[in-house]
Amino acid sequence: MKLQFLGTGAADWPNPGPKVGAGRRFSSQCLNDHVLLDCGPMALDAMNEFGLDPNALSDIVIGHPHGDHYDFATIAAIAARRNPDAEALVLHLNTAAAKALNKQQSELPDNLRVAPFQPGDAFSCGDLQFHALPANHSLERAGERAAHFYIESARQETLFYALDGSWLPSATWGFLKTKRLDLIIWELTCGDKDDWRLFEHCNLGMLKIMTNVFRNYGLLKPDTQMFCSHLARTLCPDHAIFAPYLAEHGYILAWDGMILNTGK
Ligand SMILES: [Zn+2]
Ligand SMILES: [Zn+2]
Repeated sequence: MKLQFLGTGAADWPNPGPKVGAGRRFSSQCLNDHVLLDCGPMALDAMNEFGLDPNALSDIVIGHPHGDHYDFATIAAIAARRNPDAEALVLHLNTAAAKALNKQQSELPDNLRVAPFQPGDAFSCGDLQFHALPANHSLERAGERAAHFYIESARQETLFYALDGSWLPSATWGFLKTKRLDLIIWELTCGDKDDWRLFEHCNLGMLKIMTNVFRNYGLLKPDTQMFCSHLARTLCPDHAIFAPYLAEHGYILAWDGMILNTGK
């Protein structure tokens, strides 16, 4: 799997985003060069900076429709950049958000197709199979639920993407407990602080406990790689200070533009 981090920050980073090395954009990543996973208002700017071609995209997947993860104007701008003969871009969006979008946007761009899903559903994006799982993260719209994703590549490599959420709901654990994970992207909004936002986000203490449970029940392999993303500007130290500290605990602190290519 190829993972490219376009943004690794929480919602308190300033928009427009920074240039590389000067901070973080809102969390977003590209998988295998063709799936954009979360697309906030800084995603197109990041694609430009990191040389990602909108024509290469097949799908955009939104974990939950908070403004740092989902911006329809940016998605429409990405669709508008595509060649007229390119296949329609598929936007995977929570069912309630998809309904609201259909109401607001009577005319969706012709080259954009909305595919609604709920936590519990599975769908594929070309060579990547997605399972949407419930997340402990509150949303304003009735009936709307945030999702984590368990993602499997055609070569059976697995990624667990857990943005945003606090402790994993038991249904999510019920799905994961028989899996073996190659890659994990954890959110670490609260850094190492016991902050009130941990009721719907994570801090390092929580990550360590959930990681231990994963290890105790055989979900981790000896070479599982765990990344931290979605760091709050106001709650986390600078990258240069925090990255070595997290490395001591077995976590790789992601940065904007970071690429991992496992070749699987
Ligand atoms: Zn967020
Ligand atoms: Zn959120």
